[in-house]
Amino acid sequence: QDLGSRLIVREGNPEDEIDRIIAETGAEAIFAQADISPYARSRDEAVQKNLPLQLTEGLTIQPLQAVRKQNGDPYTVYSPYSRSWRALPSPERVQLYTQPERIHTPKDVESLPLPDLPYHNKAAFPPGESAARKRLEHFAFSNDGPIARYHEERDRPDLEGTSKLSPYLRLGIVSPRHVGARAALAAERGESEGSRRGAETFLNELIWREFFIDILYHFPEVREHSFRPNLRRIAWSNNISDFDAWCRGETGYPIVDAAMIQLLKTGWMHNRLRMVVASFLVKDLLIDWRWGEKWFMQHLIDGDPAANNGGWQWAAGTGTDAAPYFRIFNPVLQGKKFDPDGNFVRTWIPALEHVPTRFVHEPWVMSETQQRESGCQIGKHYPAPIVDHSWARERVLTAYQEARSRYENQTASGGTN
Ligand code: FAD
Repeated sequence: QDLGSRLIVREGNPEDEIDRIIAETGAEAIFAQADISPYARSRDEAVQKNLPLQLTEGLTIQPLQAVRKQNGDPYTVYSPYSRSWRALPSPERVQLYTQPERIHTPKDVESLPLPDLPYHNKAAFPPGESAARKRLEHFAFSNDGPIARYHEERDRPDLEGTSKLSPYLRLGIVSPRHVGARAALAAERGESEGSRRGAETFLNELIWREFFIDILYHFPEVREHSFRPNLRRIAWSNNISDFDAWCRGETGYPIVDAAMIQLLKTGWMHNRLRMVVASFLVKDLLIDWRWGEKWFMQHLIDGDPAANNGGWQWAAGTGTDAAPYFRIFNPVLQGKKFDPDGNFVRTWIPALEHVPTRFVHEPWVMSETQQRESGCQIGKHYPAPIVDHSWARERVLTAYQEARSRYENQTASGGTN
């Protein structure tokens, strides 16, 4: 605005709309940040064919091609990737272009209005760079900010233990280099051993983000199927009514339901809970991880093809660094461990408000009298569990083992896929 321009919002095919804007404004160059998803790459290639598009770095802290094995191959395991990432020098400040003195934007160039945020809880993520920087400042600047306790509290959805910067990072509202530089500063200058550890752990998460971006860049086929070939043919149950119950937050497992309701109402979910609900969908309900991946992309305000795919394949045990497939989260124990007082589940499920803490993650074990007294009758105020965890555990282990055997037999008999 200071330079005489303003934000123009258009909707449509990027090649056509940008072409039209160039005709209307006489613009000579287009600057945009390079992105790596298969869609983004083909979009940018199409625009670049006929228009003066200049792509710049900025999606990641380290340049996209910089983290490589000695032989030039991409990494497929996080730890060596992270070591190699950390061994690189901090990227230089880049002058992207010479800033013009004025950007002339004729008055009659039309813009659509800014779309409204679709969530009830708009206050959770106020838009704009200054909101993002304020959040980062609160999280990372002072020695007693949440970053100093990050390594201890990042798994607790009942506390404000994480930065909640993901929508800002995903949408380019704050630069990852800026966030990375703050984390590195906190790691270097933290007053206590604990606060330095918190900052280091936070930096690790930023590196995870870049690792998954790297994976999607080099292995775009992970959007279609499992990274691990031996788990590509699992016989999923894909029961529609189970899936609906998971989507709506009505599985009867409070930690799963509260997380899914938080997602529907705010467009965000805590990392620990993303792992728990993903494990529940895949392992307890035996539903294809791609269904969950899609639901997350439809509802997350930070929905990111790389991190989301990486997270889902991790939880399903089918990905690069995936959790071993036989490690199956118990939703009751996860609830008790990471929401020990039940504050998180009570926030999102009013029926649990008066349920004593010892039952809050498994309300169905209350006697009928206890259910009546706490105002939470199972089947009336809150659903009974839709699946028995121990039974589901055996079912999924069998399904995974069968998929592995199918693959081994096929490979032995000379099949390829
Ligand atoms: P913090 O803990 O403060 O971490 C700081 C930043 O590091 C995050 O904002 C994010 O950019 C990055 N980060 C942290 N953890 C991870 C991780 N495991 N993988 C990749 N980047 C990470 N993250 C997304 O940004 N978009 C997604 O669509 C997404 N889908 C996920 C799906 C599943 C099934 C799982 C298990 C994880 C997913 N994540 C996703 C990763 C993680 O849950 C979120 O980045 C995190 O919860 C965001 O909260 P925060 O900003 O407070 O994170």
